[in-house]
Amino acid sequence: MTIPIMPSQSEQSAHTDIIGKPSQTFPLHCVQGSSSQPDRLWTALRKWSELLGPENVDGPDTVVERYNPGALPKKYVTCPVAAVRPANRDQVVGVVKIARASGIPLHAISRGQNWGYGGPLPPRDGMAIVDLSRMNRIIEVNTELAYAVIEPGVTQRQLFDYLKTHQIPLVPDATGAGPEASLVGNILQRGFGHTPYGNRVLHAGNYEVVLPDGRVIETGFGRYENARAKHVFPYGRGPWVDGLFTQSGLGIVTRMTVWLLPAPEALIGFALKVPCEHQIAQIVERLRPLCLDGTVRSTVHIANDLRVISARTSYPYSLTGGRTPLPAPVRQHLRRKFGVGAWNLMGGLYGSRGMTRQAAKEIRRAFRGLAPVFCFGSRLLLVGRWLAEMTERLGVRTPLAEAVRSADSVYRLLEGEPSDEHLKGVFWRHRSVPSVFHPRAAGALWCSPVLPMRGEDVLALLRTVTPIYERHQLEPLITFSAVTSRALVGVFSICYDPEDSLQVNQAEACYEELSSAICRSGYYPYRGMIPHCADPCFWDVPSEFLNTLFPQSVSCDRT
Ligand SMILES: Cc1cc2nc3c(=O)[nH]c(=O)nc-3n(C[C@H](O)[C@H](O)[C@H](O)COP(=O)(O)OP(=O)(O)OC[C@H]3O[C@@H](n4cnc5c(N)ncnc54)[C@H](O)[C@@H]3O)c2cc1C
Repeated sequence: MTIPIMPSQSEQSAHTDIIGKPSQTFPLHCVQGSSSQPDRLWTALRKWSELLGPENVDGPDTVVERYNPGALPKKYVTCPVAAVRPANRDQVVGVVKIARASGIPLHAISRGQNWGYGGPLPPRDGMAIVDLSRMNRIIEVNTELAYAVIEPGVTQRQLFDYLKTHQIPLVPDATGAGPEASLVGNILQRGFGHTPYGNRVLHAGNYEVVLPDGRVIETGFGRYENARAKHVFPYGRGPWVDGLFTQSGLGIVTRMTVWLLPAPEALIGFALKVPCEHQIAQIVERLRPLCLDGTVRSTVHIANDLRVISARTSYPYSLTGGRTPLPAPVRQHLRRKFGVGAWNLMGGLYGSRGMTRQAAKEIRRAFRGLAPVFCFGSRLLLVGRWLAEMTERLGVRTPLAEAVRSADSVYRLLEGEPSDEHLKGVFWRHRSVPSVFHPRAAGALWCSPVLPMRGEDVLALLRTVTPIYERHQLEPLITFSAVTSRALVGVFSICYDPEDSLQVNQAEACYEELSSAICRSGYYPYRGMIPHCADPCFWDVPSEFLNTLFPQSVSCDRT
């Protein structure tokens, strides 16, 4: 690793190639801002290298390439000055102490797969990334009490495989973010998955946290030596502080307990679709009582036609003669081809055979007159898969086969198995889709407003966003997920071809307008970049908190 005080011309042009603008932060910014800052960065890099080994430290010359934001529009690309990859808690403490002495702010990532919301990049220029991917130990799995104690670098795939290999009958919650996404980073963003433990932050606790001054605390009962209930009772005694470390940058979480679902005797997937856009309101009205009374305990996802279709195919440039946005007749054609409705609901029922059968009956009753409910278990899917393969061998792609494929991939998520398949959707507008779906290369921005689980709110939000997508000539790819029994999270994807500068500009403008409009309508995003509608007073509180508790602190994200 070389650490330049000034970037050489070649480094500056490499930086411009990747980021699209000359470096404003390293080391030019440092030089312009304060003459002592390059020295402090140099000192920190040297000390981090001594602590972690030079191979685990990136300076300004290599950090940008390694943590390349890929297809993110330049406007949202920030510029880190360094990255460090500690291997254990004590090294994290050392990293923090060095950063504090040097005044370099830190940004922690667990796996850095935060696609759609900025990827691995820090929220501001000039920060050093603390990449925790080397801390990937599954420390304990308790089969009796159904939990795992994990480090931040543990991936969804790793935990799933571990449980499978050791034949442990416990189900981890899975998100659609792909096998390489973390559990800890996702939980700290208050992300959500598909099982009854899909509201993940409520099914985790006992965080081990390195504070910005280098002290280490455990939340819940973990602060008491020998506390026997620390993995099963998150609150402990005294203030319940876990939430303080989510979306805050108030500490680096180095270990966490996540609860696992005992493998149910029966798991039934259920699905329905409706042909008209406005029927989403009726779906939501009928779903809410089922969530409130506990008939449905899993996260339920309601996706529009394009969100489902995008997981199976990309934008049909050949059918539109290269034109965008998608003409309505082509959209209808795709709906028929892939056997999808205007809105498509999918969820899971977990429990004994009797319980799931009864719940399936209740669900059918609730949706009677609106849409037939299709219930399926692993055996039916096996038959469906076989039928789909047979028809494909005959060269026929039937809507049934396509529906089976969709159901199959969601069913695997319900079983806790992460898969690459869901990553395909973010390549919707790409003209050449890579064979390996790495979201880094995908042109996608996500906006995720939260709304009360009411038909009128869904319609109001759709009335707000639809004309914005139209104005910017992009297609709305939308899901609504029942993350609590009273609230939906909408995920509005803005997809573009990163090779097409017109589409990139359209996406950026669409994202800006969409973000402002949803906030003005009162539907604020649960995560992501919302600078223009953030309440400055609220956001001052974590900063003041940090500055009061930890003077000369080094970390405060606004993720
Ligand atoms: C196709 C697709 C599908 C997706 N599906 C879902 C989905 O179903 N549900 C969902 O929630 N998201 C989804 N996402 C969004 C995102 O990819 C996931 O949330 C993913 O889990 C985030 O990446 P990560 O787990 O590696 O977290 P990271 O990128 O490692 O972390 C995310 C943020 O959390 C903070 N952080 C991370 N680790 C720490 C730590 N140890 N200490 C302190 N702060 C920390 C940082 O602010 C960091 O930027 C999807 C994305 C795509 C592209």
